Amino acid sequence: MTIPDIIIAVDGYSSTGKSTFAKMVAAEFGFLYLDSGAMYRGVTLAGLESGVIADGKIDEAALLPVMGPLDLHFRRDDGATKLYLGDRCIEKEIRGWEVSQYVSPVSAIPQVRAWVDDKLHAFAAGGRVIMDGRDIGTTVFPNAELKVFMTADPMVRAQRRYEELLAKGEKTTLEEVVANLKDRDYRDSHRPTSPLRQAADAYVLDNTHMTLHEELVWMLGLLQGKFGLLESPGLSC
Ligand code: C5P
Repeated sequence: MTIPDIIIAVDGYSSTGKSTFAKMVAAEFGFLYLDSGAMYRGVTLAGLESGVIADGKIDEAALLPVMGPLDLHFRRDDGATKLYLGDRCIEKEIRGWEVSQYVSPVSAIPQVRAWVDDKLHAFAAGGRVIMDGRDIGTTVFPNAELKVFMTADPMVRAQRRYEELLAKGEKTTLEEVVANLKDRDYRDSHRPTSPLRQAADAYVLDNTHMTLHEELVWMLGLLQGKFGLLESPGLSC
């Protein structure tokens, strides 16, 4: 038995390791990985660069015409899926601290969500996709064949994110990271349009005390339960 060309939706709180998990599953089982949060980050970066997001304010009316013509798309680069704005790889810029400050309020704008959703549907049109985000299993692909909802202890999440930012040379404190995570979780789960919710048919993965290998074994168990024994269940990591 092999895994059919399904859509796998991975949702959850900020910094629960959704993208690490989804990338690992994509590589292991031959799926295309798509990061929906990167799209919201790309729109936010464009808003910052054009000056319609500045000094703690988002000029919503001015952001929409900036966003409309944006050529945001993913490309396979060195075996990884990276976000491009036209010919420019913006993977590094979109992960910076400034974008993280504004991305949740930007993603709460209904027109931004509709624009991103259209792009995500187009990118996933070929099928066999694993996509991570906040509303993939509830709004973007409510009929996804497999849904995972990720969670972890908030302090463990903050520590992981803090270490990630330090490794990138960003200047921040653990307190700032905790505050940013709390703020994003609150905004993401309280916005009126597509709030972060666990889909009723999602499987919960709490990885507070799990290694990546254990997460992969968990996923393999889920896939085997759903699709029967796989042909080569030997895992690469
Ligand atoms: O996943 P990541 O943390 O990079 O996403 C950045 C932000 O984009 C999130 O904090 C959330 O506000 C927003 N987002 C969203 N819906 C998604 C993915 C991300 O609202 N499907």
